[in-house]
Amino acid sequence: MDNNIMEKITSLCKRRGFIYPNSEIYGGLSNSWDFGPLGVELKNNIKLLWWKKFVRSRNDIVGMDAAIISNPKVWEASGHIANFTDPLVECKICHQRFREDFKDQIKNHESIHKGIKIVWTEAKKFNLMFKTFIGPAEDKADTVYLRPETAQSIFINFKNVLSSTRVKLPFGIAQIGKAFRNEITPGNFIFRTREFEQMEIEYFIPVPKNEIEWQKHFTYWQEQIHDWMENNLGLNSEKIYDNDIPDADRSHYSKKTIDFEYDFPFGRKELFGLAYRADYDLKNHEKKSGKNMKYRDMESGEEFWPHVIEPSMGLDRSILAVLIDSYKENNNRIVMSFKSSLAPYKAAVFPLLSNKPELINKAKSLYDILRQSFMVAWDDRGNIGKRYASQDEAGTPYCITIDFQTLEDNTVTIRERDSMNQRRVDFNEVDSIIYNSLK
Ligand code: ATP
Repeated sequence: MDNNIMEKITSLCKRRGFIYPNSEIYGGLSNSWDFGPLGVELKNNIKLLWWKKFVRSRNDIVGMDAAIISNPKVWEASGHIANFTDPLVECKICHQRFREDFKDQIKNHESIHKGIKIVWTEAKKFNLMFKTFIGPAEDKADTVYLRPETAQSIFINFKNVLSSTRVKLPFGIAQIGKAFRNEITPGNFIFRTREFEQMEIEYFIPVPKNEIEWQKHFTYWQEQIHDWMENNLGLNSEKIYDNDIPDADRSHYSKKTIDFEYDFPFGRKELFGLAYRADYDLKNHEKKSGKNMKYRDMESGEEFWPHVIEPSMGLDRSILAVLIDSYKENNNRIVMSFKSSLAPYKAAVFPLLSNKPELINKAKSLYDILRQSFMVAWDDRGNIGKRYASQDEAGTPYCITIDFQTLEDNTVTIRERDSMNQRRVDFNEVDSIIYNSLK
């Protein structure tokens, strides 16, 4: 792939209103990004699709949306205060810090101080949680944390969900929301940021009697994540790898983890994760809070901590992978080939000429009909070729032109983004053509 691909995508995102650098008028803030008019549509489409797939269309998963700031005891119980750290080394020449395990960045830094032998400090643990204070006193007693993951707010509400719904094991609780990590070396556009959104499910299962019993759920979720990546996000399956994380490299809570990696232009990196957390979280919250966090089987009366399989999907990394996978450039023609279900605009409507009221009125009437069901763009500037090029860059699957023939026989030209094929269809058919493309 073209080496400049990330620069091209970053520039397209800004030019077309997908993603802007945050607080740019004040010189920006590194690795902080804002979603613009097209970006927020893409983002919302991905969220909604995820919610439909994993919550609304299933009988065994319920949703929730928790607060970002919790009682700090949550993070003591979860192990984040003690263990959510990265090992940091510091260059003794310029005092820049790097993650010890990011060997390529360390090597790159050594080449910056050409010819000088760099001495690195011993690795120190650095906690990634953002601290802030509740109330007017900036005191240790008032310290709270911005959540570094959405998972814990699901665990602390486990009993609330049990008592307020009719869920029975196995079942899941899903959440989409912001998480914050004071990453030492963020970068690669929106790949690693300090503020990002996660789409997570905690899937609770009965205590497994053997390995096969949890493995079957794990494998099911591994397949579901592939289905999401390939069929919902439309990512190229040849760029996706399942990396089974060896014992020594897994998080403190996990008995098995698979990282789903994607071939980003800057290397093969983690896109999503799947972890078997056993009963680690509910057990620790019971110990710390003194509250019963067990599930009670209605038939046997038995009480136990269910085990947990956790599919964890980053929303921002989903967006980045979709942007990269969709970017097509051919003879100066740039196309974002989003699946229709993800595309910010599902269609664009053009009157052939902008100075003919009869064409404008007819085109406006189609625009108003389509807008009742879909996000639709309107463009009456310049020539049709330029309008097509502009919609190709925005990833709009269909462009519909109203011309003089429309006034005679009520047909319009519909032009398909990927094939560039044009055909005439009845004015009244357009709505169902777009609708069918979303399936
Ligand atoms: P990494 O190894 O890249 O730091 P992680 O293993 O710490 O990621 P998890 O804690 O498993 O990540 O988080 C689950 C998901 O949340 C990741 O798979 C990723 O999609 C997303 N994610 C994690 N950290 C970030 C970040 N700093 N910026 C954007 N997305 C992130």
